[in-house]
Amino acid sequence: MNAKTHLTGAGVAGLAAGAAWGLGPAQALVLFAAALPVASLPDKDRLLNPGRDHRSWPHSIILGGGGILLAASYLSRMLVEEHVPLLALAPYGVAAGYLSHLMLDALTGAGVWVLAPGGPRVRLASIEVGGPGEDLVRGSLWAAGGLIVLCAWLPGILHGGLVLLAGGAS
Ligand SMILES: [Zn+2]
Repeated sequence: MNAKTHLTGAGVAGLAAGAAWGLGPAQALVLFAAALPVASLPDKDRLLNPGRDHRSWPHSIILGGGGILLAASYLSRMLVEEHVPLLALAPYGVAAGYLSHLMLDALTGAGVWVLAPGGPRVRLASIEVGGPGEDLVRGSLWAAGGLIVLCAWLPGILHGGLVLLAGGAS
């Protein structure tokens, strides 16, 4: 998939993780913000494989995805022990952004590797990169992100605003 689709997917993955864990908007914002910079990180393997089928070990579910989850878990625990719980969420945002990349690439014909290049691939669909199918995926992600924010945090934000207004009026 293209960079803008990966960026959208990473943002939605951060928001979805925040909603799934029942986090407040500030914590979810940490996950969201941490997911965005790594949206296209696996595609840095183009530096090693400049050809069309550039996907190497960063596009491996176990080596790339599993590795980033292990690293996130270790780093997050260290940050909790350093008493910075809000920042401790950031590694999980990074992991969500990275995993969203693998999930989106698994929807393309080239798929992603299960373990290592040359082994079995995971292909969930054959969406053409840059084609109308990718546009549809990106549009669906925008809709999903909006729905997540609407359902998970908007009632609380509106309630907080009303409480502030009522407090200011009395
Ligand atoms: Zn990729």
